[in-house]
Amino acid sequence: MPNPFWRPTCNCRPTVIMMGSPCCQVCGKPGVWLGWGYGMIEMMAVFERRTGMRSMGPHRGMTRELLESRMVWCPTCSGRCLVDIKDGMDCKECPECRGLGVFFNGTKKEFLEIRARILEQFPDAAASNFDPDLLRYLGDED
Ligand SMILES: [Zn+2]
Ligand SMILES: [Zn+2]
Repeated sequence: MPNPFWRPTCNCRPTVIMMGSPCCQVCGKPGVWLGWGYGMIEMMAVFERRTGMRSMGPHRGMTRELLESRMVWCPTCSGRCLVDIKDGMDCKECPECRGLGVFFNGTKKEFLEIRARILEQFPDAAASNFDPDLLRYLGDED
């Protein structure tokens, strides 16, 4: 489920840049509407859909270095995977990136080769039900 986020306008908790409630829970000052975003659990699922790798495990570093470094943020949703509709009253999955928040900056062939290289070292790291056709490959377009 997408969560609504607000930006705090006070300094009660300096490390908090997004809050899940419209007002600061310390002083009650209202925040500024940011938009809809995914929580941590959803972002782990998005990671699996983007890379086809499990969201946790020792392969995370190599996956980030080789695969995620080749991904670019979707300009429509800025990587939030969601776009606001009805003036921010609601949201839907971003149609441009199909809810992944990113595009792969290369071809599908390259993506699959890199993924196979990571799986060679970490054979248990593959996510189940991975559909490589969900991701958009900029190298295969235009
Ligand atoms: Zn406050
Ligand atoms: Zn998008």
